[in-house]
Amino acid sequence: MRIANLDNRAVLVVGGPGDELAVDIATASDGRFGPDPSAIYSSWNEVRAWGAEVDLSGHAGTAIDRSLLRAPSPAPRQVFAVGLNYDDHAAESGFETPTHLPPVFTKYVSAFTGPDTEVAIPPDGDVDWEIELVTVIGREAYRIDAAEAWSCTAGLTAGQDLSERISQMRGPAPQFGLAKSYPGFAPQGPWLVTPDEFADPDDLELGCAIDGEEVQKGRTRDMIFPVPELVAALSWNVTLYPGDVIFTGTPAGVGMGRDPRRFLRPGERLDSWIEGIGELHQFFVAATP
Ligand code: ZN
Repeated sequence: MRIANLDNRAVLVVGGPGDELAVDIATASDGRFGPDPSAIYSSWNEVRAWGAEVDLSGHAGTAIDRSLLRAPSPAPRQVFAVGLNYDDHAAESGFETPTHLPPVFTKYVSAFTGPDTEVAIPPDGDVDWEIELVTVIGREAYRIDAAEAWSCTAGLTAGQDLSERISQMRGPAPQFGLAKSYPGFAPQGPWLVTPDEFADPDDLELGCAIDGEEVQKGRTRDMIFPVPELVAALSWNVTLYPGDVIFTGTPAGVGMGRDPRRFLRPGERLDSWIEGIGELHQFFVAATP
């Protein structure tokens, strides 16, 4: 099952690829669920069961205007972002591979957007790209085992963990949360895909390109802490709630790890993708003074 946030209404995504249609969940369920996309996750098991059985023959679906897509979980109670979760990215960043738990920080919800956006580069900013698999929680979880983690996961989407490296690295300790939360720095989508839709949800290709030049390409099987272990590990520190969002880390190929370093400039376009999920498209412009 695929669910999207289309102009702040929860929709089922049917058909495709490239030919996807939206079926409004509130309409198709006669008001049992929706339309608020954030509320879908608090009754996730019921939504899943309904989605598996609903007869959509009376609901033709409408073409999806991608400019109206928003983040699949737009108002999570908690957002986690994980650093150094791929060996090759830890190495290019000059850090040792984490052995216990990777560094965990947040991206503030004000940075959330849908998949296709224009992003303003902060004045004199060095904006970097990080394609990441994003996990959305579907059931409250506290102190769970990795074996239970997929059953606590609503689904997966694609995300860009955009970062402004100057403000991130300035100061006595890295300033992760703020430097990664400028407006538009957390694009996600195009929709949420449930784990059962993948042949192997632990092995998906992901990557991104700047103006057609591939800069990142990896596979989620190379995560040091795969999704089930991440979800379980987080749940031993904090209670995870339905709708919570986890950015799971990025593979090698970010701009800061290059020689010479490279950052996004006004007029450049960043295209990101994850196998079985879809694409994000960001166009970068100079900030207006
Ligand atoms: Zn990241």
